[in-house]
Amino acid sequence: MLSFNYSLKKHNTFGIDVNAKYFFTFQLINDLQSFIKNKKYQNLQKIVIGEGSNLLFTKKFDGVVIYPQIKGIELVRQTDDFYFIRAGAGIIWDNFVEYCVKNNWQGTENLSLIPGTVGATPVQNIGAYGIEAKDIIHSVEYVSLEKGEICKISNKDCKFEYRNSIFKNELKDKIVVTNVTYKLNKKQLLNIDYKGIKDELNNYKEINIQNIRKAIIKVRNSKLPDVKEIGNAGSFFKNPVIDKNLLAKIKEKYPETPNFEIANSKYKIPAAYLIDKCNFKGYRHKNAGVFEHQPLVLINRGNATGQEILELSEIIQTKVKQVFGIALEREVIVE
Ligand SMILES: Cc1cc2nc3c(=O)[nH]c(=O)nc-3n(C[C@H](O)[C@H](O)[C@H](O)COP(=O)(O)OP(=O)(O)OC[C@H]3O[C@@H](n4cnc5c(N)ncnc54)[C@H](O)[C@@H]3O)c2cc1C
Repeated sequence: MLSFNYSLKKHNTFGIDVNAKYFFTFQLINDLQSFIKNKKYQNLQKIVIGEGSNLLFTKKFDGVVIYPQIKGIELVRQTDDFYFIRAGAGIIWDNFVEYCVKNNWQGTENLSLIPGTVGATPVQNIGAYGIEAKDIIHSVEYVSLEKGEICKISNKDCKFEYRNSIFKNELKDKIVVTNVTYKLNKKQLLNIDYKGIKDELNNYKEINIQNIRKAIIKVRNSKLPDVKEIGNAGSFFKNPVIDKNLLAKIKEKYPETPNFEIANSKYKIPAAYLIDKCNFKGYRHKNAGVFEHQPLVLINRGNATGQEILELSEIIQTKVKQVFGIALEREVIVE
């Protein structure tokens, strides 16, 4: 279905009210292919949208927004150790997690309650509590926006990195993810090393994926604003990775700086710590703000424009650079 001059307000969790020139929804791959072949729309800029939970619209989108509504979850095969589950791009990610956990298919539970769709999971390589989508994705099916060809790539060809993949680089705005196949464990392989989750799990008699999901939902609800009440897109910035020398310099002034060695004398620093140290908790800029309980989350205080939120993010980037010498990179995609 194609709509003209369509408001995206309900399609982005910041709740920014901008219009798309065209908004195309489809359930069947055939319909997408016919649309791609229609000459009238061929030269227009195109983006794919899921739940808009990692997007910031700063202006009217003068092209086609494509909104996949492919549903369906299928157990395609199984081995002694694994289930291979194929899911449609339009399924809400947390509904998929709930379904897997109910069936005792192990592996998605740590990613409970992350907003968004199945189709975005390989694009973003979503992650939380020690697990990333790359750990459970087997393969990704997509349709190319140029010719409408159907392709399938394996996990290793997705070039997964921290919140990054081939779909945000070589294939950015060139394809539509249609289905994702996940490789989930039959045997229990729990990942509960995160302190907050470990502590919460002490309240449960048994440690299994059902209780891990419950614990994660409880912890996340206590930390993050509900997008239905406060417009936001989760973490606005990525956690920066710095080298040994810069870390040593920062620690001279701020000895308590939290850091995790990741590889070859490279250290990851929580962006929330840096923003907090620059006194941004609860800070306001026009109709945008910094969430007072978690400074990594920028919020729409009501009727903010995308531009106002972008300006706030730049104020934060400038200050963190001045104080720590670290250039914060956005996790949220700006359109
Ligand atoms: C409160 C809150 C908490 C969050 N917590 C986390 C967290 O813990 N961990 C985490 O990793 N993320 C988190 N996020 C960010 C967000 O949930 C993820 O990035 C999610 O994967 C985005 O899914 P989406 O469907 O909303 O994608 P969108 O925001 O609509 O799109 C994101 C990108 O993916 C592309 N895309 C989407 N669907 C497709 C498709 N079918 N084919 C091709 N490209 C596509 C878009 O073009 C865009 O570039 C959080 C967000 C919020 C609001």
